[in-house]
Amino acid sequence: MSMRKITVLGSTGSIGTNTLDVLRRHPQQWSVFALCAGNQVEKLAQQCLEFCPEHAVMASYEGANQLTALLKQAGHAGTQVHHGPAALNQMASDPQVEVVMAAMVGAAGLAPCMAAAQTGKRLLLANKEAIVLGGSVFMQAVRNGGAVLLPIDSEHSAIFQCMPESAQERARRVSKIILTASGGPFRDRDPATLSSVTPEEAVAHPNWSMGQKISVDSATMMNKALEIIEAKWLFDLRPDQIEVVIHPQSVIHSFVEFHDTSVLAQLGTPDMRVPIAYGLSWPERIESGAQPLNMSQLKDLTFREPCTKRYPCLPLAWQTLRAQEGATAILNAANEVAVHAFLTRRIRFDQIYSLIHSVLELQAPACPSDLESLLALDEWARKQAQFVLAQIQR
Ligand code: NAD
Ligand code: MG
Repeated sequence: MSMRKITVLGSTGSIGTNTLDVLRRHPQQWSVFALCAGNQVEKLAQQCLEFCPEHAVMASYEGANQLTALLKQAGHAGTQVHHGPAALNQMASDPQVEVVMAAMVGAAGLAPCMAAAQTGKRLLLANKEAIVLGGSVFMQAVRNGGAVLLPIDSEHSAIFQCMPESAQERARRVSKIILTASGGPFRDRDPATLSSVTPEEAVAHPNWSMGQKISVDSATMMNKALEIIEAKWLFDLRPDQIEVVIHPQSVIHSFVEFHDTSVLAQLGTPDMRVPIAYGLSWPERIESGAQPLNMSQLKDLTFREPCTKRYPCLPLAWQTLRAQEGATAILNAANEVAVHAFLTRRIRFDQIYSLIHSVLELQAPACPSDLESLLALDEWARKQAQFVLAQIQR
């Protein structure tokens, strides 16, 4: 079998390093075309030494220079170093590339995801903000380009594994899906004390080790809100067909219910290498490196309804899905600004919700119809969020 070339966007992050760990186990099947990162130059240099990609991309010119120097110092040749968003688009759409892992965080990942979609790649989507922002424009690019879009988010991978393959069969047979949520680090904390939690407490997730942004999103459950929107686009569902249940053990990764009330679920240890391996190998199965579930040692599997007083961000998903398209893009942008402000200690944890809520109240520009207008809407929402932020801080 010939080697498939892969580009990893966000290779130095949590999903990126897990992806490289799966690839490391299968050196005969994939060769790394490009590794791309934001500003972690030493980590990317190490990855280049191990995986010898044809290309490496850093976010900035300075970062690229540092990377070049480090590689030279180590006597490594053969990796061309680039920087900036245009290089990401090239790495995602190069004709030699078959597979693109979208593991960047935030809306910055949309443009390279669109480039991969338009050029018909197997697109492994971890970067949920890209599909939340991209919405129907992104899905149209996937169809037009003939791309194969495979979910990496564990819940969506679970649903994908339980669902019939064809869109027609899904529409005919599936009544609803139920996304499981761990509830994050504050699931048992008195909601009245949420105003005083620190960034350190918020990023300490009980079940998963993840990047900072998604860890805060898990604490507010904005992560689940984004996942509801992601599920709508991936599986073509109505908002009322998507439910959420808290399942603190993170063993059942989600459920699909059919018209006869039968329910299928996918289980596994909470290890992102499982959905990553499935995305890489689909429809085959390969070794992921994860520990198997030990059923006899599984203690209670419990479920409870999410309380919207504790998680006010959660209902914003259904609310924005029912509003005009573009509302979900505004939700995502306002959240990115709010999370950053919280992590840099400019607002309290409970003000993440108030900031987002205020931005959603504003009169928004017209519906986005292409990548440019999506990015303009994203920028508009970020600006509004900055205004609201300045008011909160005053
Ligand atoms: P992370 O912060 O650990 O990693 C983000 C990566 O993106 C890093 O490599 C960073 O250098 C890179 N990056 C950021 N900005 C960039 C830019 N402008 N240009 C180029 N590279 C840039 O985040 P993560 O936890 O790995 O999450 C990545 C995505 O996957 C997020 O959208 C997250 O919601 C999703 N996801 C993560 C997990 C998880 O377990 N970590 C699970 C499900 C979904
Ligand atoms: Mg998830």
